[in-house]
Amino acid sequence: MDTTQFSAGILDWYVIHKRDLPWREVGLDPYRVVVAEIMLQQTQVPRVIEKYTEFLGLFPTIYDLAQASRESVIQAWSGLGYNRRAIMLQQFAQEVVKLYEGKIPQVPEALIKLSGIGPYAAGSIASFAFNRPEPAIDVNVRRIYMRYFHGRDEGLPMGREEEKKLYTLVKLSIPENKSCDLHNALMDFGSLVCLRDAPRCSSCVLRKNCGFFPLYTVEKEKVLFVAEKKVEKGVMENGRHIPNRIFRGRIVEFVRKHAGEEVSLEELGCAVKKDYVDADEGWLVELCLKLEKEGMITFGRMGVKMEGKEDGRVVLGLGK
Ligand code: SF4
Repeated sequence: MDTTQFSAGILDWYVIHKRDLPWREVGLDPYRVVVAEIMLQQTQVPRVIEKYTEFLGLFPTIYDLAQASRESVIQAWSGLGYNRRAIMLQQFAQEVVKLYEGKIPQVPEALIKLSGIGPYAAGSIASFAFNRPEPAIDVNVRRIYMRYFHGRDEGLPMGREEEKKLYTLVKLSIPENKSCDLHNALMDFGSLVCLRDAPRCSSCVLRKNCGFFPLYTVEKEKVLFVAEKKVEKGVMENGRHIPNRIFRGRIVEFVRKHAGEEVSLEELGCAVKKDYVDADEGWLVELCLKLEKEGMITFGRMGVKMEGKEDGRVVLGLGK
C-alpha cells in the first residue's frame, strides 16, 4: 500500500486548509495540549475554543490544576459536558506531579497508565504534544484509512486482528517528524472533506487513489452511510428518549448553581427532567448516587425520608 502518496496528499491539503486553533501553536506547553485533547474527546471544537482559554486562565500550569480543589475544577468544566473528564484530568495532573515531577511522559506505554488516558489519548498526546510517530486513531482517522486503503466504510465492525493491522498502517503512514501535522491534517480532513454521512468525494484531492471513490455514487450513498445508532440507556422525557448522560449533566449543572443548599428531591427532579413525577424518584436517586460514587457531587441525605415516598430533602455539593 502506498502510504507515502496518501500522507503527502493529506499534508498538501492541510497546508492550504488547516484550521487555526489555539492548541496548535508550535512549541506549546504539553500540559495545554493535554487539556485540549481531553476537552475535545466529547465536545465540539467551537465550544472547546471558548472554554480552553478560560480553563487555562484558572489553572495555567499542571501544578495549579493538581493543587486546585475538586469543586473548583468541576465548576470550571461547566458547559463542556461529560463532567467526569474534569475529575480524570485533575487526577492525571496530580499523578504527573507526583510520579514525574510535573513533566508529562512522552510515550504511550507510560501515558496509558495515568488516569483518564485510553489508547487514543495516549497516542494523541504523544503525537500532538511531542511529535512522536504514534498513531492516534479516532473515528475520523479510522474512517479515512478504511475508505482510502480498503474501500470500506468504518461502520462495519472490526476484529482485533483488523484493529492491529489498522494501527500498523497508520504508523507506517506517518512521515518522519510529521506526526503532529499529519494527525492535525487527518482531524481537519475528516471534519471538512471525508465526512461520515456525505463525503465530498467528487472534489477530494485523494479521490484518484481512494479505494472508496469508485463505490461512491448517490445511490450507494443512501445505503452505505446509514450508520447504526446504539440506543443509550435513558428514560422518556415529553415523549422522547433522552440518554441518562444528558440528565447527569443537568444534575451537575444544577449542583453548580445550588451547592450547599438544602433542596427537595422533587425540586431537583423538576429542574433536571421536564416531566418529572414521583415515580421517577428511584431513577433520580440512582443517578445522584452514581455521580456521588464517581466523586462528582456530594449527596447529603436529610434523615431517611429520601428512601420512602415522602418528599425527602438533600443537601447537594460538588465533589471534594
Ligand atoms: S475520495 Fe471520498 S472517501 Fe476517499 S478520501 Fe476522499 S472524501 Fe474520503
